[in-house]
Formats: sequence, structure tokens, C-alpha cells
Amino acid sequence: MKNDSTGPRGYRRPGLIRMLLDFVFPHYCKVCGHRLDPSENELCITCFLNMPRLEYNKDVINPTEKMLLTEKSLVRAVSLMQYSKESDYRNILFHLKYWHHPKVGQWLARIGAAELKEKGFFEGIDCLVPLPLTFRKEIQRGYNQCVFIAKGIRQVTGLPIIGSAVVREAEHSHQAGLGKYQRWSNAQGLFRVADADALRGKHILIIDDVITTGATLCSMIDTIEAAVPEIKVSVFTLALAK
Ligand SMILES: [Zn+2]
Repeated sequence: MKNDSTGPRGYRRPGLIRMLLDFVFPHYCKVCGHRLDPSENELCITCFLNMPRLEYNKDVINPTEKMLLTEKSLVRAVSLMQYSKESDYRNILFHLKYWHHPKVGQWLARIGAAELKEKGFFEGIDCLVPLPLTFRKEIQRGYNQCVFIAKGIRQVTGLPIIGSAVVREAEHSHQAGLGKYQRWSNAQGLFRVADADALRGKHILIIDDVITTGATLCSMIDTIEAAVPEIKVSVFTLALAK
């Protein structure tokens, strides 16, 4: 695992170089926007401790699993936090997707994965499959934020990332701002399995940044189930939107 000096919460005592760098290049909390202390990483301690976390318990069906219950291959699912439209915690998603700070996703995923590992969430899972962007979107953005989230989980679990087995091919109109029904109809036929052999016989963990209606994730799972009927699927998202 990388970052041996990082504690389980991702906060550590800063070294001299870190303090000097922070003086020259200050960094700011991805939630409240206040300047971070050199000992803080991505979020200030206050925002980190007040994060609207969702707990995982393998014996209780959680809200993320409820949204995906129609998927016959689903084994388990979890989201790390839940936010509403008015919440400042939504800023984490903006930083991750639009403001070119994908490392916040990797950092949060690493912290969440360390907790989930203790609870047996990763038992039986063979590999990580980040939800793909269209080729055009990934070129425009310069990265796929879900790959960064997957890297955070890989740092804790050692599970390999399979990034090219499923591709996103259709450029539909933007999901944001659409009603529930429009999102569902818009999500049909978004994905294509490019390498079924890479998934065959596996229990995969699909990684997404946020689950809103579940339409996009269900579309991806349906596509994989059609190509690899024996697949087992679990899901990890950083956030669940209210
Ligand atoms: Zn803060």
C-alpha cells in the first residue's frame, strides 16, 4: 500500500517540505473552501468529521442497494455519503468531475475502502470496473474520475482495475436537469461490452462517483448481464444524491 505514513483517516503530521510547499501553494477544503492546515488533506477536519456518511452493514439493505434491487446479478452495494442539492458536500463532486481535482475522489475512496475492508465488503470480489465515460467526454475532461476512485480502492485492497472491458458509446443529452423518467429512458443502450472474456466467471465491483436514480448503473449492469450471464456485480459509489 502506498502512503505508509498516512493514518487511517488520511491525516498526518506534515513534514518541513510539506509545510513549505503549503506556504507557496496553499490548498483549500473541497467542501467549505477554507484554507487547509498543512496537516489536513483535501477536506478540513471539521468537514471531514461532519460528512453525511452512510454506514455499511451486510445484514441490512442500504439505500444504494434498494436502488439496484432489480438487477439479478447484484451481490452488494454501498455509497460513502449522501448529499442534498443544497449541501456544500456537493462541492466534492464538482471538484472531482468539473474542477480538475480528481485526487479528492482517490483520497476519499481510500479512506472508505479501509473501513469497508474491515466489514468484509470486498470478500469474493475479483476486480474493479470504473464506470466508463464516452471517448469524447474523457478527452474533454482529461481523465475519468471513476478511475481515480478505483485507484483509491486498489491502494487498500490490491484488486486489479479492468478499464476497457465495457465502453460507453452513445452521447446522450446531459443527465443533469432531466426528470426521473427521462433519465431512465435516456440511459438505455449507453454501454457495450468490448471484452466479455475479461469479465467471465468474475465478481466485479463497478465504481461510480454518484448514484442519483440508478438509471446509468442499471443500464451498465443490464448490458454486462446480457453479455456475461453468470456475472456477479457489486457497486461502490462515493455519493448518493438525495
Ligand atoms: Zn471544510
